[in-house]
Amino acid sequence: MKIIRGIKEMRELSRKAHEEKKRVGLVPTMGALHKGHLSLIQRARKENDAVFVSVFVNPIQFGPKEDYRRYPRNLKADARLCGQAGADAIFFPDERSMYSSGHGTHVCVEGLSDILCGKLRPGHFKGVTTVVAKLFNIVDPDTAYFGQKDAQQAVIVKKMAGELNMPVTIKVLPTVREKDGLAMSSRNAYLNDRERSDAAVLFQALTLAKDLLKRRFNDTSLIVRKMKELINSKRSVKIQYVCVVDPRSLRPLHKITGKALVMLAVKIGGVRLIDNIMVNRNA
Ligand code: AMP
Repeated sequence: MKIIRGIKEMRELSRKAHEEKKRVGLVPTMGALHKGHLSLIQRARKENDAVFVSVFVNPIQFGPKEDYRRYPRNLKADARLCGQAGADAIFFPDERSMYSSGHGTHVCVEGLSDILCGKLRPGHFKGVTTVVAKLFNIVDPDTAYFGQKDAQQAVIVKKMAGELNMPVTIKVLPTVREKDGLAMSSRNAYLNDRERSDAAVLFQALTLAKDLLKRRFNDTSLIVRKMKELINSKRSVKIQYVCVVDPRSLRPLHKITGKALVMLAVKIGGVRLIDNIMVNRNA
């Protein structure tokens, strides 16, 4: 597996690929790869001639009290997994080359970045959109792949790419889950055994929302209340938010009349986890 550390080198490799009329796919990640990431890489492999995976733990999307320092890092394992999933190279820039001292340019999608997770993590999405914009400028992909697991991020990145006329197609792929339904996440590794088993309640709560809608309950306050009751039955789980929103605007819905996104964020021990599920009254 080729590991590219230099921005110039990455740019050159992508330029060559474009010159050879290759379709270029990019999968942006923070590393500690799992099957969720691999599903994106595998899809990118199917749809492109050159596949790059960026591995960069982006400091500016972490708050001062968040887990930037202890975020899991394992380039060796990531390289092996990327190889197995069919990537051509990993782009692994260092922090100083991405953010020179005095770095002052940011990209921010206003409004969408300040609600839900953005409200609880001020500056987080500004950090995300800034690094994704930088990665798009460096790698120049035809298509970039993101996970539905981070639903708000996906909506924000799509809006950024559209509104800034970035010549890239954004594809959002389904959430890959563990056997008990827990969404795969690099942060699951922080959970102890008890917390890990309690974490299964998140998917159970999302499934409950889907079941209630199937039984024709479409009042979101009732759905959210039932979900909260279930989640609160696990003492280690502290709810940050549970809500039902419009999938595009992410604005709260009072009634589900068509497609809706059921979203939640919790803390288990010190670990922050998010998940969501798309539901459709007309399905
Ligand atoms: P991260 O390394 O956490 O920044 O994630 C990199 C990309 O992988 C993002 O687009 C995530 O949405 C996506 N991703 C993370 N977990 C999953 C999952 N369980 N299923 C599908 N995609 C995921």
